[in-house]
Amino acid sequence: MTSTNKKVAVVGAGVGGLAVAARLGKKGFNVEVFEKEPRCGGRCHILEDRGFKFDMGPSFVLMPDFFKEVFDYCDEDISDYLNLKNLDVHYKIFFSDGDSLSVYNDCEKTRKEIERFEPGSSKGFDGFLGYTHQIYKTVQPLLYKCFTGKSLANPSLWPVVFKLHPFASYWAVAKKFFKTDKLCYAFTFEAMFMGVSPYQAPGFYSIITYSDHIQKIAHPMGGMYKIPLALEKISKKNKVVFHYNSEVKEIGRDSKGSFIRNNGVNKYYDYIVANGDYVHAQEDLLKRKVPDYKYSCSVYLLYLGLKEKIRGLEHHNLFFSSDLPKNLEQIFNENIVPDEPSFYIHVPTVTDPTLAPDGKEIVYVLIPVANLKNKEEDIDKHKKRLRKLAFDKINKAIGRNIEDLIEVEHEFIPSDFISRYNIKNAATFGLAHNLLQSAFFRPANIDSKIKNLFYAGASTQPGGGLPVVIASSRIVADMICG
Ligand SMILES: Cc1cc2nc3c(=O)[nH]c(=O)nc-3n(C[C@H](O)[C@H](O)[C@H](O)COP(=O)(O)OP(=O)(O)OC[C@H]3O[C@@H](n4cnc5c(N)ncnc54)[C@H](O)[C@@H]3O)c2cc1C
Repeated sequence: MTSTNKKVAVVGAGVGGLAVAARLGKKGFNVEVFEKEPRCGGRCHILEDRGFKFDMGPSFVLMPDFFKEVFDYCDEDISDYLNLKNLDVHYKIFFSDGDSLSVYNDCEKTRKEIERFEPGSSKGFDGFLGYTHQIYKTVQPLLYKCFTGKSLANPSLWPVVFKLHPFASYWAVAKKFFKTDKLCYAFTFEAMFMGVSPYQAPGFYSIITYSDHIQKIAHPMGGMYKIPLALEKISKKNKVVFHYNSEVKEIGRDSKGSFIRNNGVNKYYDYIVANGDYVHAQEDLLKRKVPDYKYSCSVYLLYLGLKEKIRGLEHHNLFFSSDLPKNLEQIFNENIVPDEPSFYIHVPTVTDPTLAPDGKEIVYVLIPVANLKNKEEDIDKHKKRLRKLAFDKINKAIGRNIEDLIEVEHEFIPSDFISRYNIKNAATFGLAHNLLQSAFFRPANIDSKIKNLFYAGASTQPGGGLPVVIASSRIVADMICG
């Protein structure tokens, strides 16, 4: 098929949409991107104020091979666009009893560190990495494939499914190798990055922890926003046209073909790729009913610009609740703002001083809370308490009162995910990653009724998180290129 005369509309300039645009632009398609916001990036957004550059969403670059793949696909060298610096200390976990545990780039140091908590656990660590390595080898190629319920009927896939032990939870995988709850939490907290509880996430998601330890954790110098900017640049180089401040109001098909409705006009394309949230596309753009999906959690975010440098925190920090099971129960089952939440602190200026004015620091606080399914926004009632709780714990870690250091402060509340990015139920990480919404059961990347409509993004296959969303763009590009 010659692609040069084929027209493609991409609805949304999130990382998934940008990666599709870059790929199809490179293949010679005439691609136009429609984005409701004034700039690209979607959840991987930036907020700039008084010289502070806050990355508003993702902060971890995991599975770097998935990032490299999209640059290779477009015949570009990733190092011309992103300066990925490996962190020496991957993250530091602060337990509520005052203990802390650091995970290092150097596995030998991590082994020594975990031995302090549980003698003999370095053997468990090796066992965990061996087990998750096998899972990673099995899952990695599957992440570039789109499955349907029918794929399950294909017997050649059954041994693969069996190898993944689909009924064991993420927590159960850690429990196989570690005795103490502290280490089990340290090896499963990544489930929260997908917006699910480690008790509910299938064990094969432990490939994220594997990737932390084996493929390492990197920071793009200049900030996470360099990632969407790089993909936008490659797209433009390949003649992709961007329409910003340009919300699509409908996707449909009539006698003239498949169209998007934008600025009151139906515009027709050979292919349409919906990158905005999948449930938004179904309900609001295609006017369809969706099943009673489970949604990931939401988050309450604070972005602080400090007038001075602080000590005691690493680039990535996790503060665990004193009662983690209750914390998870309240978010995922009771659907409420937790009493004493675990939270995450990002201090990117530890590695990258260019993100703040000289001698100043960025502190980003992420507190997982329940999503807004069947419920009104209620964060106002809890904000003061959550902020104080986080600040008290930070103050202990840095030995100072953070309140006295704040020069700039912004927040992002759950309902902002709806108003800003059209994300259903403010589910920050999209549809939940439980067993019945993973792999075969997650929405496919091609529409079942409109054959030239495709989906790339966090709530479709293979799932959420930057590397995986980039994989969804590959699936879609491969389908369109035939
Ligand atoms: C706080 C936070 C922390 C995270 N941390 C990490 C992390 O550390 N590492 C990691 O890998 N991932 C992380 N993630 C997840 C990651 O950011 C997402 O999975 C990924 O960015 C989703 O990309 P996407 O392309 O699917 O969708 P989006 O980023 O949501 O992009 C979709 C775009 O479509 C636009 N849009 C929606 N509707 C329309 C419409 N009708 N018309 C036109 N445009 C429309 C939206 O404005 C948006 O720009 C985090 C996410 C958040 C929010």
